[in-house]
Amino acid sequence: MTIGSKQKKSVWDMTKERLNSVMDTLHLSRGLKEYITEPRKVVEVSVTVKREKGDIDIFKGWRVQHNTNRGPAKGGIRYHPDANLDEIKALALLMTLKCAVTGIPFGGAKGGVAVDPATLSKNELENLTRRYTFEIINIIGPEKDIPAPDVGTNARVMAWIMDTYSIDKGYSVPGVVTGKPIALGGSQGREEATGRGVVYSLLSALKVHQIDTTDLAIAVQGFGNVGSNAARILYDLGFKIVAISDAGGAIHNKAGIDPHKAFKHTEEAGTVAGYKDADTMGRDGIFEVDCDVLIPAALENQIKKSNAGLIKAKFIAEGANAPTTLEADRILNDKGVFIIPDILCNAGGVTVSYFEWVQGNDAYFWSKRKVDLSLRDIMEKAFYEVYEVSKERKVDMRRAATILGVERVAEAVELRGIYP
Ligand code: NAD
Repeated sequence: MTIGSKQKKSVWDMTKERLNSVMDTLHLSRGLKEYITEPRKVVEVSVTVKREKGDIDIFKGWRVQHNTNRGPAKGGIRYHPDANLDEIKALALLMTLKCAVTGIPFGGAKGGVAVDPATLSKNELENLTRRYTFEIINIIGPEKDIPAPDVGTNARVMAWIMDTYSIDKGYSVPGVVTGKPIALGGSQGREEATGRGVVYSLLSALKVHQIDTTDLAIAVQGFGNVGSNAARILYDLGFKIVAISDAGGAIHNKAGIDPHKAFKHTEEAGTVAGYKDADTMGRDGIFEVDCDVLIPAALENQIKKSNAGLIKAKFIAEGANAPTTLEADRILNDKGVFIIPDILCNAGGVTVSYFEWVQGNDAYFWSKRKVDLSLRDIMEKAFYEVYEVSKERKVDMRRAATILGVERVAEAVELRGIYP
């Protein structure tokens, strides 16, 4: 860094800053604040992969267990070229708070490998996954730390992790991951759970504001697991999806887009751009479209100082983790935008992961209807609990969710005590 230049805050710095500004109002001791902030365990590994052509490549990987006071560590695994330790630590901390906000008996974790999975053949992806699993095998397990899919990973990758772990143990251990294929003990409804949870949170927000939902216009940034499922569920409920973006571009049609058809186009073209029943634009055009609701469902730090002022939506439902920077948060709050924060809004994935873990432990599997209804119960309860805190303490929903999460983690720490 050049002397005098301003270094950009990492997502870890921002997450800590947000957390500390809330903890400072809660009269926690200095030690407890530090305990709640810092990760319990950080493991960095080199993931060595033999490429199809015979060369070897080494990718950096991490698994971070942030807090395990409320239960086993739980969190996704991300394959992305920009994955780094600071990001993984921040996402692990958010998982701790998310599980606490929803009342799920898990702690927080996150893992990742700095790799672009699109540059790997299927065999290379499998080998990378198995090697990464082998490198972290001693710290994961159904009672210790349970990975799940995140950006760049999916049910197929979870199956390879489960198989590698099971081979090491000598027997099948389906509970080591969630987000597995149904054929291997996955749960009905897990694949779409995060998007569905975003929808339940949004419906609760519209209800408390007594908004007539007919003809509300929705824009979705990111059209992967979370964004595409949220868009399709909302469309099926009668909402109008006016814009969708992904890494390759964005599409816009103020009369509405059928996200099922747009998704089919994406499967063939690799991006929503070029979809015939809408206008194609640059991917960041999504922040400027006329809409009532914006769902960021791509990556961190997407809504920032430079585009927050352009956003016309009155509601933001954070499907992604940490999509809004601190400065953007201030701008949006000043504009009166109602933000449903990530640690509440996108908790549907970990909630159904929890159901998957429960079903696996019981060896008794639920219907999709039971999964969806149970998910709705948990998401609604969490929303109203956070909303109550926000009213009582006169704070925005992000601070309210953080207060609730921190208080529940702090209570668990106090009850368990510090060993030895
Ligand atoms: P994914 O890989 O399935 O999809 C990511 C999408 O974002 C893709 O469509 C990609 O093209 C798009 N994208 C990337 N950069 C973009 C950009 N600059 N502009 C517009 N679009 C861009 O990932 P996912 O699983 O849907 O996760 C998305 C977000 O949701 C992440 O923040 C993740 O941590 C969070 N999340 C995911 C889950 C889950 O169950 N998958 C659960 C909770 C939170």
